[in-house]
Amino acid sequence: MIIVFTGNGKGKTTAALGTALRSIGNGKKVKMIQFIKGPFKSGEDSSWQKLSSNFELIKGGIGFVGILNDPHSFSDHKKAADNTWELCKKTIKSRKYNLVIMDEINAAMDLKLIDDQEIKEFLQQSSENIDIICTGRNAPKWLIDIADLVTEMKDVKHPFNAGKQAKRGIEF
Ligand code: ATP
Ligand code: MG
Repeated sequence: MIIVFTGNGKGKTTAALGTALRSIGNGKKVKMIQFIKGPFKSGEDSSWQKLSSNFELIKGGIGFVGILNDPHSFSDHKKAADNTWELCKKTIKSRKYNLVIMDEINAAMDLKLIDDQEIKEFLQQSSENIDIICTGRNAPKWLIDIADLVTEMKDVKHPFNAGKQAKRGIEF
């Protein structure tokens, strides 16, 4: 089954983490691989170590692309995303996981960091006997078409727009 969490409202990554928590409770094995996200620490980076051996989280990115004084070139981001996609393929093909979360893969495709044609062909052949969650804004139409479950988070109100700083434990 393919699941997509997209849209401009908060809740995509945390919905994926919530699904992971539910899966682990049912004895499933889960791996989450994050595109774009790099050295910046988020709560989930360490919570998995406290969960058990049934959840792994890998940060494959090098950080935000083109914003917040991004020190990296576009080709460095592309290289990181290509490597992250290779890891995703290897993880899915290994058949060791019941659920694989590709966090921010939609954003990585939207930013043209990875070639979505290859991802399309791979996902069309690989979603049997495994659940795959793809998160990130602007999910491509082909992904929405092949997915079984799609939820679009809609931004109604966010403290960022009231000038409030990101809150530890809620935003990261
Ligand atoms: P979360 O990780 O909290 O589930 P997300 O995955 O839906 O959020 P992203 O687009 O990955 O959202 O952005 C991650 C960060 O941006 C989080 O700190 C989140 O709170 C913040 N954010 C998400 N949506 C908005 C918004 N509409 N306005 C401002 N900040 C936002
Ligand atoms: Mg996210």
